[in-house]
Amino acid sequence: MAFYDASKIETLYDQATLDARNRELGAQITADYKGKGDLVLVGVLRGSFPFIADLCRYIDLPVEVDFLGLSSYGDRTETSGIVRMTQDLSEPIKGKHVLVVEDIVDTGLTMKYLLANLHTREPASVRVATLLHKPDGMRVHVDLDYVGFTIPDRFVVGYGLDFSRKLRNLPFIGVVTNSDLIYPNTP
Ligand code: 5GP
Repeated sequence: MAFYDASKIETLYDQATLDARNRELGAQITADYKGKGDLVLVGVLRGSFPFIADLCRYIDLPVEVDFLGLSSYGDRTETSGIVRMTQDLSEPIKGKHVLVVEDIVDTGLTMKYLLANLHTREPASVRVATLLHKPDGMRVHVDLDYVGFTIPDRFVVGYGLDFSRKLRNLPFIGVVTNSDLIYPNTP
């Protein structure tokens, strides 16, 4: 029995669909960066951890993987646009090709902040791979080079995306249809 009540979460993308899309994105990234020099994947914590873990295994190149942490103040379902870095990269990126790996781009404010920050470190290039994109929510323009799925303006959970800090471990992406009693089987 699952820890959550599946009738309260509508599935948008199941595990097989996510896997197939990750395979396609990995192949595209491999083709684009082949022979181009050092590539570092930069995962944005916390939400990108399942996506970067799955995506990197479909990239057939000797990539580095690093992480940084960002947190945007705001309530549960809406960003404030005020972004704070909670954890920095472990290694310099000067002269390297950087591919930012993000779970979702909604307003674009988090990504705009991050890209401005990364550019000051003089990388060879910076591109963005985001699993999800909500074009209706965009408040600033950012170029998104690889997009897994374009979705309507709904609050999604699972596969790294949280619901009040939980549900990141769902193996699929869904929408909470009824937030009462999502966890009936846990004390
Ligand atoms: P932004 O609005 O700055 O583009 O996105 C900021 C952050 O808000 C994302 O990195 C993600 O952590 C969170 N976020 C945006 N939309 C959703 C959503 O639908 N579900 C969840 N769980 N987080 C979201």
